[in-house]
Amino acid sequence: MATPERTVQKYGGTSLGDLDRIRAVAARVKRRWEQGLNVAVVVSAMGGETNRLLALARSLSGEPDARELDVLLSTGEQVSCALLSLALKEQGVPAESLLGHQVRISTDSAHGKARIQSIKVSRIERAFEERKVAVVAGFQGIDSDDNITTLGRGGSDTTAVALAAALGATSCDICTDVDGVYTTDPRTCDQAVRLEKISYDEMLELAGLGAKVLQIRAVECAKRYGVKLRVCSSFGDDEGTWVVPEEEGMEEVLVSGVAFDRDQAKITVKLVPDTPGLAASLFGPLADKGVVVDMIVQNVSADGHTDLTFTVSGEDFSAATNLVQDVAEKVGAGGIDSSDTVAKVSVVGLGMRNHAGVAARMFEVLSDAGINIQMISTSEIKISVVIERDDVDKAVKLLHEAFVEDPGSLAESKPA
Ligand code: ADP
Ligand code: ASP
Ligand code: MG
Repeated sequence: MATPERTVQKYGGTSLGDLDRIRAVAARVKRRWEQGLNVAVVVSAMGGETNRLLALARSLSGEPDARELDVLLSTGEQVSCALLSLALKEQGVPAESLLGHQVRISTDSAHGKARIQSIKVSRIERAFEERKVAVVAGFQGIDSDDNITTLGRGGSDTTAVALAAALGATSCDICTDVDGVYTTDPRTCDQAVRLEKISYDEMLELAGLGAKVLQIRAVECAKRYGVKLRVCSSFGDDEGTWVVPEEEGMEEVLVSGVAFDRDQAKITVKLVPDTPGLAASLFGPLADKGVVVDMIVQNVSADGHTDLTFTVSGEDFSAATNLVQDVAEKVGAGGIDSSDTVAKVSVVGLGMRNHAGVAARMFEVLSDAGINIQMISTSEIKISVVIERDDVDKAVKLLHEAFVEDPGSLAESKPA
């Protein structure tokens, strides 16, 4: 008999929000399994559970110990993993729950943002040989010292894609509370439309710029290992959105999506002596503490001093401010200014590679609406701006209108 095809399905928190939903997910998994496929299901914690656990830890400790936090957070996925297995068995489907350490999802030791290094699939293959559905806890792994690690928020997506690669699965479905990847977050803009497919590179940008429908590392992993990745609804049977290698014609679309990240912060180190090594002395300590610096702007001034402004995620804001305060004193800076009420809005599209005018149009749209741009950064296929958080909804709607709903004026303009 031919070996059955393997597939991976991942279900997010909202899709597993209560027992009825868990039963519905079990029924959906059952349909796949009845088609003769070997199915590995990756689960997130039940909706809201990871936040609840985080809040518990934070009410005990201002800066919870990273190792203990991972032990705590990983319990969310342990619960949903066991419950889904029970629900499957109730529906007559043989199933086995497996935690990160049982599958041997090996990671580095970066608690809270660990990277998967390898996955040993033999335990899952054993389950498959017995025609069991393997229900795997997402988001968690184990380091070389047997410590429990977690992969960062949204990390179950990455577990699923990495598992699909390791198993040689024919596809990996990310089943969630929307029926695909949209041109922008459908919860923020009613006019958002579902994309039939999107290139890995555009999806990487969107995910990195705040579209949490997929974790960026999941997309990186899918691109690297050529995993056939699809985002679809947990509740229906629509085709969803395929994330695919770049295809001919994709460049014709100027802007595929508008992404935003409301949770950004901005720090300016003022009047720093403009000497070699300055950036290293400032950003070195931030990197050592794992703070990811995003945009950086340096304003040169005539009198040998300079202002340096950069952004970090809201989560890293207080750690970054404390570190920068110390360095600012050491290097004799004139002080620091900071704001944690900023956000980043970006437009992404392969078509930008050979089309001028997107940036100019973006700035015009924002300026016509009286929205002040505080920082700008560009890459080949994206333009991002930092604006006040209160302006995000308006900016997203206007940019979506200008580039997605009515791209006519730009599309007709001359390619670069
Ligand atoms: P899950 O719990 O299933 O992992 P997430 O909340 O992490 O789900 O991701 C799904 C959410 O991503 C959607 O509910 C939607 O609000 C948001 N989202 C942001 N940008 C987009 C986009 N471009 N397309 C679809 N969903 C998006
Ligand atoms: N439960 C984790 C989170 O809320 C992981 C995930 O949902 O993918 O971030
Ligand atoms: Mg998610």
